[in-house]
Amino acid sequence: MDTKTLIVTGASRGIGAVTSVRAARAGFDVVVNCLRDEAAAERVAAAVRAEGRRALVVRADVATEAGVLALFEACDRTFGRLDALVNNAGVVDAAQRVDEMSAARLARMFTTNAVGPMLCAREAVRRMSTRHGGAGGAIVNVSSAAARLGSPNQYVDYAASKAAIDTFTKGLALEVAAEGVRVNAVRPGIIDTEIHASGGQPERVRQLAPTVPMRRAGSADEVAAAIVWLLSDDAAYVTGAIVDVTGGR
Ligand code: NAP
Repeated sequence: MDTKTLIVTGASRGIGAVTSVRAARAGFDVVVNCLRDEAAAERVAAAVRAEGRRALVVRADVATEAGVLALFEACDRTFGRLDALVNNAGVVDAAQRVDEMSAARLARMFTTNAVGPMLCAREAVRRMSTRHGGAGGAIVNVSSAAARLGSPNQYVDYAASKAAIDTFTKGLALEVAAEGVRVNAVRPGIIDTEIHASGGQPERVRQLAPTVPMRRAGSADEVAAAIVWLLSDDAAYVTGAIVDVTGGR
């Protein structure tokens, strides 16, 4: 069987990094995308190669159309095929009320978390859909439980950007369901990664873990397991689904 090719955005650390390695174990060659930390992305690529698969690091800002095009063209040049996309790159920001938020903050949040994934999905559909001569494929979007919870006094803008991802997942799934492309999402809860520190709340996981019904935070690996299942043929009849990975939150 041919080895399939997967693009993971934001794969230098956290959920994207672990997903890349798990997907390699499941048989994918992986394009490891990052924004800044190319050295970390190269370590992820080395872990993919250790699983016997090929890896390509592409530093590209998926919040820009030029970055998205560069990412997919790099995949075309190196692997000559695309079978799957994980729209994982995402950002939070400092805790603020909506009445304190600047237009620049809102623009960055929505450009990175909503527009970027939509542009990546567009490029993936152009390559994978049978309508465009492709062989089919799978897209997994990384949303957040925040889309359900609204995140008051934290980052309502982030929650709203992830709600956009949920609706986009549903709509795109229906649009391409008859074209061989499955589109699903995972909604992680409180997951122990560096994203919380990047939003100025390094203690967030420790503080919130006791409030989770399962009384603990989740790991990036627990989220990656759901993502890789959705990519796999084991999920062949699953599309338009949004899978909560939240410990019940
Ligand atoms: P993380 O540890 O902060 O990692 C974020 C990754 O995204 C990094 O690899 C970063 O690259 C990359 N990135 C950020 N902006 C980018 C851009 N414009 N272009 C390309 N890459 C970009 O995050 P995480 O916790 O693993 O989160 C991954 C996804 O899960 C996000 O969509 C997040 O919203 C979602 N999520 C996380 C949690 C949680 O509790 N951790 C909960 C719900 C949902 P560099 O390292 O190069 O900067």
